[in-house]
Amino acid sequence: MKDKEEGKKEIKIKGRVSRPLILKEMYQQGLHICSGFYGDKRVGECLFCLEVLARLKNERKK
Ligand SMILES: [Zn+2]
Repeated sequence: MKDKEEGKKEIKIKGRVSRPLILKEMYQQGLHICSGFYGDKRVGECLFCLEVLARLKNERKK
């Protein structure tokens, strides 16, 4: 059955956005900012996203 290939959902993001502010905004709007679910709708809190946010904060302290 080659029909399965059509069901594959490819998530392609044009131009990676890695700016902390944009990631924060995305998270506040209820989207994932972690690499695993990037751009997906977030239900509740995501530990991976929180990790990303924590890293952003740490980087700013330099
Ligand atoms: Zn997440």
